[in-house]
Amino acid sequence: MLTDAFGRKVDYLRLSITDRCNLRCVYCMPPEGIPLKPASEILSYDELLRIARVAASLGVRKVRVTGGEPLVRGGLVDFIRDLARIPGIEDLAMTTNGIGLAELAAPLKTAGLRRVNVSLDTIRRDRFAEITRCDRLPEVLAGIEGAIRAELSPVKINVVLLHGLLPGEVDDFLSMARERQVTVRFIERMPIGCAPSEGYVSADGIRDRILSLPGARPAVGGRPAASLDYDIPGFAGRVGLISPVSRKFCSDCNRLRVTSVGHLRNCLFGRETLDLRRLMRNGGDDEVVAAMIRQAVASKTEGHDLCGSGSVPSAAEPMSRVGG
Ligand code: SAM
Ligand code: SF4
Repeated sequence: MLTDAFGRKVDYLRLSITDRCNLRCVYCMPPEGIPLKPASEILSYDELLRIARVAASLGVRKVRVTGGEPLVRGGLVDFIRDLARIPGIEDLAMTTNGIGLAELAAPLKTAGLRRVNVSLDTIRRDRFAEITRCDRLPEVLAGIEGAIRAELSPVKINVVLLHGLLPGEVDDFLSMARERQVTVRFIERMPIGCAPSEGYVSADGIRDRILSLPGARPAVGGRPAASLDYDIPGFAGRVGLISPVSRKFCSDCNRLRVTSVGHLRNCLFGRETLDLRRLMRNGGDDEVVAAMIRQAVASKTEGHDLCGSGSVPSAAEPMSRVGG
């Protein structure tokens, strides 16, 4: 088992499998996109599988595949099948923008993907086109329906709270959770990537709106989680809040991240990275890969300082390479 210096059990690995993306969300990328790394610098599927295998042998039980946009990488279904077969991995999830999911949801489910988070910040077509700089909302909505049909459940919808959010847009998502079996999670935008530091929207107002609904109450059960979920009578789904800025959840952090170029990171906001790719390509065996993973866990800090000093630590790498 991997336990850090503060007694936190680390059993969750996030793998960013590409820095490519078919959207250009304003808080994540500039309009022209980020400078892409040559394909040779992106971890191969074999390298990713090796990291996952070693991590699982050390006690990692949950793996999330992210990006960039994971669905744009060729060979994804076979990769997921290989990941799902690794002994010890009990939970395999993906974070995606949903484009292409309508077609891929069923094959991914068959391959062993358990569940999916779809990022969607508005269900109004003009606003979607503004936020993502692409007019592709219908494909995302079809992807969500495909995921529900394929039972990639619970299907979670990640909604980043953006400056300019219209009052009715929160209710759009509440209606979605009322009618469909999805967990809508409102997420405070973090001051990294292309996110300007002004215009931060706290989740507090949304919490008040949720609690104004008859019978709404915090959901019980589960491990302490980043998301505070609410059960609302009459809703087919759930609603949750993730507040990395106003309510940091470092004390429950169980995560390690591998970026698409093979940097191992023990905190989204940390500056420290360990170069797993170089280690592996220089012939390092599984023992040294394991040692680097242990080192990353041992050097996890107690918490980030997003809400302490109010200063904004800049991530050394873009979100689309780190994977959120
Ligand atoms: N392309 C996929 C997607 O959008 O779901 C996966 C990669 S994306 C970097 C992962 C998550 O990070 C998305 O849910 C996205 O909304 C979120 N994200 C990106 N920049 C963010 C920021 N500044 N604050 C909060 N969330 C952010
Ligand atoms: Fe692409 Fe996801 Fe970044 Fe949006 S948040 S630009 S979908 S990587």
